[in-house]
Amino acid sequence: MIIQLKKETKPQEIKDFIKYLENKGYQIKDASSQDLTLLGVIGDTSKLDIGNILSFSIVEEAHRIATPFKQVSRSFHPLDTVVEVKGIKIGGNNPLFIIGGPCSVETCDLLKETAIFVKESGAKGLRGGAYKPRTSPYAFQGLGTIGVEYLNTVSNEVGIITVSEIMSSDKIPEFEKNIDIFQVGARNMQNYELLKALGKTKAPILLKRGFSNTIEEWLMSAEYIIASGNPNVILCERGIRTFETYTRNTLDISVIPLIKKLTHLPIIIDPSHATGKRDLVEAVSLASIAAGCDGLIIEVHPHPEVAYSDGAQTINYDSFKTLMKKATKIAKVIGRGV
Ligand code: PEP
Ligand code: MN
Repeated sequence: MIIQLKKETKPQEIKDFIKYLENKGYQIKDASSQDLTLLGVIGDTSKLDIGNILSFSIVEEAHRIATPFKQVSRSFHPLDTVVEVKGIKIGGNNPLFIIGGPCSVETCDLLKETAIFVKESGAKGLRGGAYKPRTSPYAFQGLGTIGVEYLNTVSNEVGIITVSEIMSSDKIPEFEKNIDIFQVGARNMQNYELLKALGKTKAPILLKRGFSNTIEEWLMSAEYIIASGNPNVILCERGIRTFETYTRNTLDISVIPLIKKLTHLPIIIDPSHATGKRDLVEAVSLASIAAGCDGLIIEVHPHPEVAYSDGAQTINYDSFKTLMKKATKIAKVIGRGV
């Protein structure tokens, strides 16, 4: 961290300030020139609150040089993290991990039929929300426990990895019994108590980016899970809210190479929530694969128009089949399998 002190700061005040930082365990390098009083703070500054530094009346400016996230950063862990779920490896140079399924779990039969279909098309994961974070309290809220149990039944019968959203820590035991990958939804990305509780489990966590969060805030949320003891984090970009209204959210493709540069964690793209429109899902999926993502999570339903939630962004079986064929070709071009 670099700290610039105000011009009029007295030598004794500078000494006292340096002592304050040294007492916190930091080494201070004086980089002052004739015009500027500059201090370099050396050590693990992730624990140093920049707001606290700026609150000193003698401080003009303070800037971080190192990232505030530590364990998720590429410099801390240069090799790609590979998350293993039931023998399937996600991340690194492993085949893409593609997840298909309905927004919400509806009936057990429908879930099973969809699971068989997406698996036959080449997907290794089945999605389905049992606890749904709906904007309206009057909208379908999900089947709850019974939906979680359907996912487990279908997973065992079909042989597919399940992904479902967990909204509160009291459901951890239920999820540990029934679900393979726990999804933290956009709305809960900064629910730090939930993140800390998930950090105490061994479950793979699919951490979605909040719709108004910066990449740094998203990575700090991943840091919460890892710092609490669980290294099995998979990032999921699902677009952010911008001024654009043609799409539900805005997906910045550059997030993929950026995440690869900043961190060692796998990244999966959700083209369904990113666009909100089913006719945009295929193109965004293919572009994401070309940009180097580690997988996709796509909403699929045999009859999207009657889906309990998110029908407008849900693709049908034919579209999913076509998408998977094209995805396989693009993946091959960049040296990845599906
Ligand atoms: C979902 O995956 O169904 C969902 C609610 O996603 P998000 O949290 O990204 O809005
Ligand atoms: Mn949805």
